[in-house]
Amino acid sequence: MVDDECRTMGELRRDLCRFSRLLHRLGFMPGTSGNLSVRLDRERLLVTPTGMSKFQLRPDDMVIVDLEGRHLEGARKVTSEVSMHLTVYHFRDDVGAVIHSHPPIATAFACAGRGLEQMLCQEAVMTLGVVPLARYATTGTGEVAASLVPYIPGHDAILLANHGAVAYGGTLLQAFQRMETVEHLAQIELVAHQLGAARTLKQEQIKELHDAKARYLMNAQ
Ligand SMILES: [Zn+2]
Repeated sequence: MVDDECRTMGELRRDLCRFSRLLHRLGFMPGTSGNLSVRLDRERLLVTPTGMSKFQLRPDDMVIVDLEGRHLEGARKVTSEVSMHLTVYHFRDDVGAVIHSHPPIATAFACAGRGLEQMLCQEAVMTLGVVPLARYATTGTGEVAASLVPYIPGHDAILLANHGAVAYGGTLLQAFQRMETVEHLAQIELVAHQLGAARTLKQEQIKELHDAKARYLMNAQ
């Protein structure tokens, strides 16, 4: 089900530290913002703690919670945004890792009330497709999870209005690559519009790219 299943607890703790530092360095998790989680098994998640810089995290700082978000192990308190993670795992059996961050350009789109819905570059079609915008919800409340529900089954990344983004995948690496792609697509859409000549792909071109993606996925198996 999940590639991370074969990784030990110690490796997963170190992976969370490694990707936290990477996301911090990219400017996606300034201050103490952002959070990451991985699925340990059918009942438990390993999650980053609240109130810490992602630059400073150590393997022992991680917290283990059950799928209701109840604290099971760890000296620290789990992130206040854990409900977002729980909801993604609840609706997607195939997901093994979730990342929430505030990448600046994608977050600016979310602050302007815009998802990444235009198919401008081929990469958008080949990777995430549409990245929808979930309605406004106050951080740390159950409203955030509720705002994501309509989009989780059909999308691998979602923008959160006036807040940030969430991306997920089978492994932490895949969730990270999707988050990286969200910011990349936002940057391209912004600049294409600044240039004043953004040209969206035609329906026929999108169909050809879907076919190319299907062939690519088949060969990759
Ligand atoms: Zn946030």
